[in-house]
Amino acid sequence: MASASIPPVHIARRGLMLVISSPSGAGKSTIARNLLEKDKNISLSVSVTTRARRQSEIDGIHYHFISKREFERLRDSEALLEWAEVHGNYYGTPREAVEVAMAEGKDMLFDIDWQGAEQLQDKMKADVVSIFILPPTMTELQSRLHRRAEDTEEVIQTRLANSRSEIEHWRDYDYVILNDDLQAAFEAIEAIVKAERVRRDRRHGMFDFVRELLEEVPALPVR
Ligand code: ADP
Ligand code: 5GP
Repeated sequence: MASASIPPVHIARRGLMLVISSPSGAGKSTIARNLLEKDKNISLSVSVTTRARRQSEIDGIHYHFISKREFERLRDSEALLEWAEVHGNYYGTPREAVEVAMAEGKDMLFDIDWQGAEQLQDKMKADVVSIFILPPTMTELQSRLHRRAEDTEEVIQTRLANSRSEIEHWRDYDYVILNDDLQAAFEAIEAIVKAERVRRDRRHGMFDFVRELLEEVPALPVR
């Protein structure tokens, strides 16, 4: 904590685009939810999707659930920053919310697949911090999909079959976390966020801060 006589110093920085991917069921939504609850400086990028809403999901909070026609309209009018077909449905990131958050230096979290991560890396490399979550075993991945109890057996089988192509992209990410223990995985993500926030190339306010710091030197009383 800063001493009472030292006013808090704010150094302006660019916002983080925190991209989290994993095969379905590895735990990325659980980890993302914990992070959003604990760190109020991060907001979730709410994607649009053509997939059917799960029982536990709320329209506008977890996703914007839209028709295929509406999705195509958004995509064709460049309103999506990235988009992909995943497990037979369309998903995309609305552009405007991201541009507003980045301009204000706010951090945003993206729960998107490898195709989306690749598109964001290409377009906004300097701002993206990408994290891949792996399950400890494929048997455990399968159990988690069943324990989540939100999808039909057919949907679970599609997701398991697609897990290989998702996992094969693990090397394209900045960080890889093994989610065997949820608390440990969460702490690793917190550590990444903390470190990435103080990266030099993100903190454009540091130039003015250091200049002003050095301007003080000639005025210092000799002790
Ligand atoms: P994803 O978003 O990657 O598809 P979820 O976050 O929905 O996965 O997690 C799938 C299921 O696994 C959920 O029921 C969740 O509570 C559970 N889960 C997540 N992480 C762990 C863990 N480390 N150990 C045991 N169960 C977990
Ligand atoms: P789910 O149907 O389980 O919510 O998500 C299925 C997959 O789609 C997950 O890998 C999730 O990360 C991904 N996904 C969700 N939203 C988007 C998005 O806007 N763009 C992309 N490319 N993938 C997304």
